[in-house]
Amino acid sequence: MTQSMQVKRSDFDRVMVPNYAPVDMIPVRGEGSRLWDQQGREYVDLAGGIAVNALGHAHPALVEALTAQAGKLWHVSNVLTNEPALRLASKLIDATFAEKVFFANSGAEANEAAFKLARRYGHDRGGENKHKIIACTNSFHGRTYFTVSVGGQPKYSQGFGPAIGGIEHVPYNDLEALRQAMTDDTCAVVVEPIQGEGGVIPADEGYLQAVRDLCNAHDALLIFDEVQSGMGRTGKLFAYMHVGVTPDILTSAKSLGGGFPISAMLTTDRIAAHFSVGTHGSTYGGNPLGCAVAERVLDIVNTPEVLEGVQARHQQLSDGLKRISAELPIFEQIRGRGLLMGAVLNQDWKGRAREVQEAAQREGLLVLQAGPDVMRLAPSLIITPEDIVEGLARLRRAISSLHG
Ligand SMILES: *Cc1c(COP(=O)(O)O)cnc(C)c1O
Repeated sequence: MTQSMQVKRSDFDRVMVPNYAPVDMIPVRGEGSRLWDQQGREYVDLAGGIAVNALGHAHPALVEALTAQAGKLWHVSNVLTNEPALRLASKLIDATFAEKVFFANSGAEANEAAFKLARRYGHDRGGENKHKIIACTNSFHGRTYFTVSVGGQPKYSQGFGPAIGGIEHVPYNDLEALRQAMTDDTCAVVVEPIQGEGGVIPADEGYLQAVRDLCNAHDALLIFDEVQSGMGRTGKLFAYMHVGVTPDILTSAKSLGGGFPISAMLTTDRIAAHFSVGTHGSTYGGNPLGCAVAERVLDIVNTPEVLEGVQARHQQLSDGLKRISAELPIFEQIRGRGLLMGAVLNQDWKGRAREVQEAAQREGLLVLQAGPDVMRLAPSLIITPEDIVEGLARLRRAISSLHG
C-alpha cells in the first residue's frame, strides 16, 4: 500500500469496523477553522474535531513544536522520563490546584487512571468496602469497560457481559439524590462541570460546591472530568475555576493536545501517593511528541488574549444562533459556556440533530450533535469573527433548506 493509493468514503464500509458512521466526505487539509475535502470543497469548522482542535488546524506554533520534537526524540517509554513531559507537568501544576500529574493518551485512559486511583485511595483508607463510585445519569467518561460502566448512558455499557460493580448513578444537578446515595463506602464522586456528550448541560449554581461538601463529609474524592470542558474551552483554563470549587482529581484530554492524542490526570501530593511504583502505567503516556505539542497548546491557551477571546466568540455565536431562530424557528435555548455550546432544538425539531448536521455539511459547515435534540458547537478557541459570520450564514442556509 503506497501513499498514492486512491481511497474514498465508500472504502470505509469495506475496510473499517462499522462502529462509526462518518459523513459523506473525506477532509484532506485544514487551516485555522477551515477544512478542505478530497474534491477541494471548503468547509467552516465549528466542530473542532469534537472540542479537540483548540487552536484550529495546522496552527504554525503547533506544527513547529511537533516537527522540532519529531527531529529529536519520539518515544522512550516510562522506563525513562523526558524533558517535554516534565515541563508540561510543571506548567499544569503552576496553572491549577494540582501538585502531581499522570499522563495518558485519551480521555478514557485519564478517567480510567482517576477511577483506579480513587479506588486505591479508598482501599488504603477504608478497606475493601470503600470502593463505591457515584456518577451522574447521562454522563460520559469514555469507552473503556470501566469508563462506560461509570458513564451514565446505558446504551454504551449494555450488551458487553457483566457490568463492573460498585457504581451508582444519580441524576445530574440533583443534590438530594446524591446525598441519599452517599455513604462512608463511597470512594469517589465524578462529575462533568458541563455535561458535554449528554447534551451540553452546565452544573446548576451551587451544585458543585454542595457535591464538594458531601465528598468532604464522607472522605470521598471529588473527580472533575474536564476532558471536554477544560483547556480554555469555557473561557477559563478549567471550568472549575469559574465556581472556585477545587476537585481532588481532574482529568483533561481533547483540547490538551490540540489534535495530538494526549491526556492528563491531575491530583494532589496526598492522593498521588496512593499510586506507588508499579500500581498503574502506560507505554505511551507522557511521550515526548505529545507533551511537546501540549506544552505549546498550554502556553498559547493560558493567556488573557485567548481566554478572554472565548467569551466574545460565545456572544457572537449565541447572538447569531438566536437571530437565525427568530427568522426560522428551530432552537428553544442556547446553553453551555464559552465555546462549548448547545443549541437545543424546539418541539417541532426534536430528534432531528443529525439532519441539521447533514444539512450544514451540504452547505459547507461542520457542526456536532450532543444527542438527538441538541446541535453542539465546539470550534477553535481562536476562530476569527469572519469565520463565525460565514459559518452562521451557512447554518442559516442549511436550516432554511430544511424549513423547505
Ligand atoms: C470525550 C470525552 C471522554 C473520552 O475521551 P476519549 O479521548 O474519547 O477517550 C471522557 N469524558 C468526557 C467528558 C468527554 O467529553
